[in-house]
Amino acid sequence: MTISQALTHIKQQIQNAAEQSDRKTDEIRLLAVSKTKPNDAIFEAYQAGQLAFGENYVQEGVDKIRYFEAQNIQLEWHFIGPLQSNKTRLVAEHFDWMQTLERAKIADRLNEQRPQEKPPLNVLIQINISDEASKSGIAPPDMLPLAEHICQLPHLRLRGLMAIPAPTNVLTEQQNAFTQMARLFDKLKAAFPNQQIDTLSMGMTDDMQSAIQCGSTMVRIGTAIFGARDYHKA
Ligand SMILES: *Cc1c(COP(=O)(O)O)cnc(C)c1O
Repeated sequence: MTISQALTHIKQQIQNAAEQSDRKTDEIRLLAVSKTKPNDAIFEAYQAGQLAFGENYVQEGVDKIRYFEAQNIQLEWHFIGPLQSNKTRLVAEHFDWMQTLERAKIADRLNEQRPQEKPPLNVLIQINISDEASKSGIAPPDMLPLAEHICQLPHLRLRGLMAIPAPTNVLTEQQNAFTQMARLFDKLKAAFPNQQIDTLSMGMTDDMQSAIQCGSTMVRIGTAIFGARDYHKA
């Protein structure tokens, strides 16, 4: 399957999942996760109409952003990996979205380092929904205080929440995590009615359907678009 065919296929699956849960297809955005994939693959997806891409590694992401800027190809770039405080500047300067915000200190740095001439950096708070010691994200009770902090920062725009639930084959466990996220998302919207909180980023290649059924507004899909990743080559 070519990348273009894979995109068509994924969009059909998004539409099916949306229809099954009485949702509109255009409520769900597709983020193409291009980590470890070459510029050629991104270009192929772009030619098939895909404009939003997600990257996990700062330097790799910035190299790709610069490459497409140099070609005058305007794409929307989302940072979706763990971010160390010494790498915040590159994210603030180059990305459009930062999906894995989990600390006030990182928010402060991104706010300070966001170039004045750029629109505010869109941010999502990452929630540790499966309560795994090793996973990133904040505990649900810490969401509102961090959101409050972010909303004070003029160069950041809080757009919603993101989560990577623990992988599981048990459908009820999957749905349980996504349902909890949907409740937190409602709570966040209710607490900040004047903010543009419209994004619940959840669902990947293996759990996209259940994420959409539970209210996801952005699925992050890598493997199903670009094929398996080869980390040895990257
Ligand atoms: C790699 C990655 C994805 C994409 O995962 P696939 O299973 O390849 O679709 C989505 N979100 C995050 C945060 C990732 O790191």
